[in-house]
Amino acid sequence: MYDLASNRSQTAWRSKPVAKKKTEILVIGGGPAGLAAAEAASSHGKQVTVIDENPAFGGQIWRAEKSELSEKAKNLVEALEKNGVEMIASCTCVASLPDKRILALSNGKTFPIRYDKVIIATGAREQFVPFPGWTLPGVFGAGGLQALVKGGYDISGKRIVVAGTGPLLLAVAAYLKKKGGNVILIAERTDLLSLIGFGLSALRVPGKWREALELRKEIRGISYMTSSSVLWADGNGKLSRVTITNDNEESEIECDLLAIGWHLVPNLEVPTLFGCDLLACAVNADEYMRTSVEDVLSAGEINFVGGLELSLIEGKIAGHSAAENLEAARGLLAKRSRLLTFASSMLNTFLTDPEELRKAVTNDTIVCRCEDVPYGRVKDLKGFNEAKLETRLGMGQCQGRVCGSACEVLFGWEANSVRPPLVPLKISELANFETENK
Ligand SMILES: Cc1cc2nc3c(=O)[nH]c(=O)nc-3n(C[C@H](O)[C@H](O)[C@H](O)COP(=O)(O)OP(=O)(O)OC[C@H]3O[C@@H](n4cnc5c(N)ncnc54)[C@H](O)[C@@H]3O)c2cc1C
Repeated sequence: MYDLASNRSQTAWRSKPVAKKKTEILVIGGGPAGLAAAEAASSHGKQVTVIDENPAFGGQIWRAEKSELSEKAKNLVEALEKNGVEMIASCTCVASLPDKRILALSNGKTFPIRYDKVIIATGAREQFVPFPGWTLPGVFGAGGLQALVKGGYDISGKRIVVAGTGPLLLAVAAYLKKKGGNVILIAERTDLLSLIGFGLSALRVPGKWREALELRKEIRGISYMTSSSVLWADGNGKLSRVTITNDNEESEIECDLLAIGWHLVPNLEVPTLFGCDLLACAVNADEYMRTSVEDVLSAGEINFVGGLELSLIEGKIAGHSAAENLEAARGLLAKRSRLLTFASSMLNTFLTDPEELRKAVTNDTIVCRCEDVPYGRVKDLKGFNEAKLETRLGMGQCQGRVCGSACEVLFGWEANSVRPPLVPLKISELANFETENK
């Protein structure tokens, strides 16, 4: 059962005490890319450790439902454990330390983990774009609502609008419908012609067309509008309706929940701490997934937000490559290249002009919800640092993870510098620091 008030799952999740503090290959992130990397690296006899900050492995797409790992994650995790891979859930990498070590946080303790090579697979998160009413209870990120429902949040009979752009909207709408939600509309920002062009390009990728047909079946009966987006959300203390524009015509729709998804943005905090070069808001890795820092590799959506299959293939390449078996990695490069081409065409189809996204914002629209900072207070400032000093924007609980990318869209501000520790630590957690020799 999910308890919204405490923001915690009431179910006991699977987690294990930390065992070893030294490993040959450390994988940070146990989503599809990290699990595939661990599988490939361990197949060459390497000693592998996977850590994930979530209480259960599987990342975003294979997120556990209540206390149950998803079927795919479960099979992979069991096979990895059988192969001797150490799997540590509820363990966050909070800093990179000298001498090939990270500082990890788990069960209220901090400790170093030493590695020979590290594969960073920390994935991506949702891009939030502020609009009037986006902080009302009932308004969620599309993936965020899906994650809450997987945690036990009950949506039976709730009237839901899914809006924004990209194929994730269809996956989310299908899931919410399956879980008893009354999904009344999918409002897709992109126009019909572009969607048809994208559909035709999907024909060239084996399996994609079938996947699309499956999804179509699952969302049958839900109204679908193109060239359509949410202008604002209204309600007295909680969401009760949204105003949508469709081909320049406005209409009001009564609803209980809005699931809105723009794009995903790579979680670059960990690779930034390692000093990896970035390019176009992603890690700049070569085709063998090696970053600019020796013995540091990266895989999955921190390299390119391109969906499950691309993350899996990159994970495998990174695992072979970290195990110094470039031959095995080479065999996967052509497939990765095909998937990258498809992912780029997907990105171009659903790319939204920032100018469009800014249109709905007013002076009162909250930009930083942790510190309650409205657009009007920051719009004339010069950058993220000035806004931080003047208003505390980006200094709350989320440490700029939500408003950072929002400010990039709204003002074109560069993302702010990343400093360790990545998450606020309690004094007791630092005091409980365990050295390698303990
Ligand atoms: C909210 C959300 C919902 C999504 N839902 C769908 C869907 O329904 N269908 C679909 O096709 N695609 C979905 N996607 C896209 C999906 O994420 C990818 O296709 C795929 O999961 C990417 O795999 P990955 O391994 O690269 O990253 P992820 O799956 O994101 O895995 C990254 C892992 O790294 C861990 N991590 C991050 N930082 C740290 C740290 N500092 N220390 C330790 N661990 C860390 C995270 O907990 C996570 O488990 C969703 C994406 C998001 C953001």
